[in-house]
Amino acid sequence: MSKARETVLEIDLKALKHNYEYIQSKLNSNTKTLAVVKAFAYGSEASEVALFLQNLHVDYFAVAYINEGIALRDAGITKPILVLHPQAINFKTLIERCLEPSIYSTKILKEFIAAATQEKQNNYPVHIKFNTGLNRLGFDKNDVDNVVAITSETSSIKVTSIFSHLAESENLKERDFTRLQIERFKQISDKFTESIGYKPILHLANTSGILNYPEAHLDMVRTGIGLNGYGNSEEENKNLKPIATLKSVISQIHNIETGETVGYNRAYKSEGSQKTATIPIGHADGIGRQYGNKKGFVTINGEKAYIIGNVCMDMIMVDITGINCNEGDEVIIFGNTPNASQFAQSANTISYEIITAISQRVKRLIISD
Ligand SMILES: *Cc1c(COP(=O)(O)O)cnc(C)c1O
Repeated sequence: MSKARETVLEIDLKALKHNYEYIQSKLNSNTKTLAVVKAFAYGSEASEVALFLQNLHVDYFAVAYINEGIALRDAGITKPILVLHPQAINFKTLIERCLEPSIYSTKILKEFIAAATQEKQNNYPVHIKFNTGLNRLGFDKNDVDNVVAITSETSSIKVTSIFSHLAESENLKERDFTRLQIERFKQISDKFTESIGYKPILHLANTSGILNYPEAHLDMVRTGIGLNGYGNSEEENKNLKPIATLKSVISQIHNIETGETVGYNRAYKSEGSQKTATIPIGHADGIGRQYGNKKGFVTINGEKAYIIGNVCMDMIMVDITGINCNEGDEVIIFGNTPNASQFAQSANTISYEIITAISQRVKRLIISD
């Protein structure tokens, strides 16, 4: 890969292929794969990533909101797209763009049937979500009869799948809770299938569910973070490759003397003769203020340079005392080493947050060879 001349987020499609194949290696050949590409495919580049996965024959896509699904359709995605958190105000557009809603409450079910009927739809695919313990979105187990009764009264919609979501599949200390969720989902899906009279696709596992609970794979799995190269454990991270590398450059080097301060609010005060480098990436690019004041660091020519003082909107200053480097040199924020998970730990957060935080101002560079 060429050296960065500005702040860029490189997206490595070879790493994406590796991750997709690693996840496939964990599945039975008849288990379908749904790629979760919400939030710009976890901050990477949703269209390029989804088109690449479509060519690899992924079965399904999911996004959180309808506008994310529209962007995928505009980019040429023809596979089914599940919208995890649709709002009734957009149902007409959802139907026009052949997006498939997650239905999580009686209110939203009735609103969607009204919209599908109004748009003269027949057997429009919907996905019924059940709450098995996350207590975020989803019908209760006691709602099965009611959902089946309502959906059986209309020919406008058809239940393509029923699903639920695990609360802490990455935490092996909480195996009992995850097993309880799997068991609850099994009871719900058995009852649902029996009373509706046909078998919808059943899906429950996210990335850590795939890696830790083979019994939860069912008919389809949903993976987001795994495709991005993170497995929510050091062990699994070794089997995956981060697809995104955030790079920047040194804009300017300063020599400062004892007692001089750096940045806004003069938050850093030098205790000796020091060298600092200014880097063109700030909180408007996704590096939050919690990374400032020697919490977070960047890597320059293989060495750690801590962020000193407060993170500015467009810049950070780092301590490069003792590091052999020049203006124009490349700076790594995260990628392979450190990976986004390790970088995020410096500010007490997780890979999911830092990778999705990289703002749209940062240029995305697709690497495909
Ligand atoms: C985001 C999301 C996923 C993906 O989870 P990962 O841990 O990134 O694999 C799966 N299912 C639902 C319902 C989600 O909201």
